[in-house]
Order: sequence, then C-alpha cells, then structure tokens
Amino acid sequence: MTTTTTAYDVIVVGLGGMGSAAAYHVAARGHRVLGLERHQPAHARGSSHGGSRIIRQSYFEDPGYVPLLLRAYELWDKLAVDAQREVYRLTGGLFVGPPDCRTVAGSVLAGRRWGLAHEVLDAAEITARFPHFTPHPGDIALYEAKAGFARPELTVRAHLDLADRAGATLRFDEPVLEWSQTRDGVRVRTPRGSYTAGRLVICPGAWAPQLLAELGVPITVERQVMYWLDPIGGAAAFADHPIFISENYSGAQIYGFPAIDGPRGGVKVAFFRKGLACTPETIDRVVRPREIDEMRARVTELLPALAGGCRHTATCMYSNTPDQHFVIARHPGYANVTVAYGFSGHGFKFVPVVGEILADLCIEGVTAHPISLFDPQRPVTR
Ligand SMILES: Cc1cc2nc3c(=O)[nH]c(=O)nc-3n(C[C@H](O)[C@H](O)[C@H](O)COP(=O)(O)OP(=O)(O)OC[C@H]3O[C@@H](n4cnc5c(N)ncnc54)[C@H](O)[C@@H]3O)c2cc1C
Repeated sequence: MTTTTTAYDVIVVGLGGMGSAAAYHVAARGHRVLGLERHQPAHARGSSHGGSRIIRQSYFEDPGYVPLLLRAYELWDKLAVDAQREVYRLTGGLFVGPPDCRTVAGSVLAGRRWGLAHEVLDAAEITARFPHFTPHPGDIALYEAKAGFARPELTVRAHLDLADRAGATLRFDEPVLEWSQTRDGVRVRTPRGSYTAGRLVICPGAWAPQLLAELGVPITVERQVMYWLDPIGGAAAFADHPIFISENYSGAQIYGFPAIDGPRGGVKVAFFRKGLACTPETIDRVVRPREIDEMRARVTELLPALAGGCRHTATCMYSNTPDQHFVIARHPGYANVTVAYGFSGHGFKFVPVVGEILADLCIEGVTAHPISLFDPQRPVTR
C-alpha cells in the first residue's frame, strides 16, 4: 500500500448521481476537491444507470419537493448548456389511475398547490390524445407538459467532466474503506492510501449501510428490474410518447418512457417499488422469464402495443428509507461531514439541486433550500 496523504478542502465519497453533482458544485465554488469512487465513471453497479430517469414537477410523493424541483429544472438547463449534452428532454407526462389514488390525487394536489401547469383528462380524453393508452373507464390522468426524462449516465459524466474542468481530482476504482474525524478535519482511508481534508461529503447510494451505519434512518436496499419491450408495429409510434406512471386499484405502480433509443432500442418499462431486499454484493443480476411475463402482462393492460419481445433487461438498486423521503444533512455527530443517501427510488430528477444543497451544507453549513423532510433525526418507524 502506498500512503498518499494530501490535503484537500473537501473529499467527496461516491461519484454516482449525487456525488458527481456535489463534486462539481463544490469545485465550481473554488474549493480543492478530491472525489473517490469505488467503480468506474457512470458504472452500472449502483443506482444511476439504465439510460433514462423520469423527471416531473407535480410531485405526488409530497408537495414539499416542488420548490426543489423548480430549482432542479433551472439547473438541468444550465447543465445541458455547460456540458453541451442532452442530459434531459421534456416529453410530457401522464400520471394515470383511479381518481383517488396517490399517483393521480397526489399529483393534482402538488400541481394545484404550486400553480403548476397541468391538465386533468378522463379515460376517453386520454385515449383520444394518446391512442396507445387504454385506461380503465373510471381512470383519470394528470398530464404535465413539463415532465420528461433525464439521461443518468450522461448526467454523471457531465458533472464529472465539469468537476474536472473546475479543478477537482477524481479517482476511480478506489473504494473508501473507512473515514474518521481528525482534530482539524477528516481522514479517509482507501486501499491506495489515506487523504485528509477539512470536510467530507458522503454520497454512497446502496452502500450507505456500510459507510453510514451509525446514522439514525435505516436503509433497505432493493433489487429493481428495468425491461425494454418491443412495441408491436415498431418503435416509431412510441418515439414521441409521453413518459407515464400508472397506478392500479391495489396501489401498485408501473412507469415507462418513449422509445428514446431508435428503432432497435425498445420501450423501457418497470415496476415502481417492487423488489427483493439485497445488498450490492448479493443482488441477483439474472432476470427470469417469469419476471418478463409479469411485466408484460401488467403493462399491456394500459399499453396493449407493448406485447412484443423483450430486447433486454437490467437490474439496479433502490436505497429505501421507511418513509421514502431522502436523507440530506450535516452529519448529526460530525459537523464537518455532510451526507446524502436513501433516495428511495425517486432521487435522480433532483441530482443537480442535491449537488447545490451539498455544496451549501458542506461549505456554508446551511442551505436556503427547504430540506427539513430529509432530516436524519426525524422520527421514522424501523
Ligand atoms: C431502476 C431504477 C429506476 C429509477 N427511476 C427513477 C426515475 O425515473 N426518476 C428518478 O428521479 N429517480 C429514479 N431512480 C432513483 C435514482 O436513480 C436514484 O435515487 C439515484 O440514482 C441515487 O443516486 P446516488 O448518488 O444516491 O447513488 P449512486 O448513483 O449509486 O451513487 C453512489 C456511488 O457511491 C459509490 N460508492 C459507494 N461506496 C463507496 C465507497 N466506500 N468508496 C467509494 N465509492 C463508493 C458507488 O460506487 C456509487 O457510484 C431510479 C432508480 C432505479 C434503481
């Protein structure tokens, strides 16, 4: 082992979705940043891969997220311009289900509370506007023109490139084995050496139970599967499709995207929050034919054209808190350590604003963004 002890202002551990954004925002404010990542840039072993992530503003999870989304959208724009990449695209979004279900009622509540542009469509109007959709006769939908998708791998690479341009040192294939507080800062140890800095930002994704075991909010890591299905009749008709989330009468949600990867790319669909507990070491990466059959059976209730073959599948991990709200805060026990984890399967659309919040917390100690929902000391049921 070589011991390299170099002083930085801030060390960022984990350069996935949140950590890459944090590294960029901290470096852009003129601080000396070291980023440490256990895998390669934009890898497929955590939570930020698979080509697409839904972005939306009428947020059924809680209207309290909306101000963060409004700022995130400004930063998505800025990122696209600064990195000269299409990191996101607006396609419109349909949130479909029984009128009183969480997906529809929660989206309408958030949309109305924040005055967000939206339309409410009944089942006949949904099919008239979007002929591939065949909702149940009693279903309705909130349609939001400002919904769309982000490209996770492109986003991570964009933030890493901008962080690098702003002077950050980024090291890959270098896992942090442990971190500790020193008299005037922090120390982290990796297989290649140890590094010191004034402050530490930890964005470990599904590895949170290993790096942040002592923090209050428990995390359950879950295996999730993404499926790329071929539409009957070809992908072209799905090229300009809205993203969608659909909830059925038992409260189960699925979601999907347009055909964004050309005629041979398929249409990506998935169950929202339907997975088995795992760890990054034990996750089963094999997707079985019965899982594909189950996905196809559910999605064709709403989109009968998605009855074609399954082009490919991929697995990914959610890191769930008991109340499905994030954890973003200064570490309650260590003032110079900031943490961001537990994004519970809905964090990607916030990536740019989480980067900004982490820079605020680690440099200024406070943020003007409303983040009380994400307090690690909130009461949660274990
Ligand atoms: C299938 C799926 C679909 C999703 N769909 C959506 C969606 O449509 N919309 C949406 O908004 N969100 C969605 N999400 C959620 C979103 O993708 C996640 O909330 C987000 O990617 C989490 O980012 P992260 O930075 O916490 O984790 P990651 O991106 O996984 O980053 C954590 C990083 O830390 C590194 N790391 C861990 N431990 C160490 C260590 N000891 N040393 C060094 N590095 C370390 C890991 O290698 C990893 O790169 C989805 C998630 C999944 C899995």
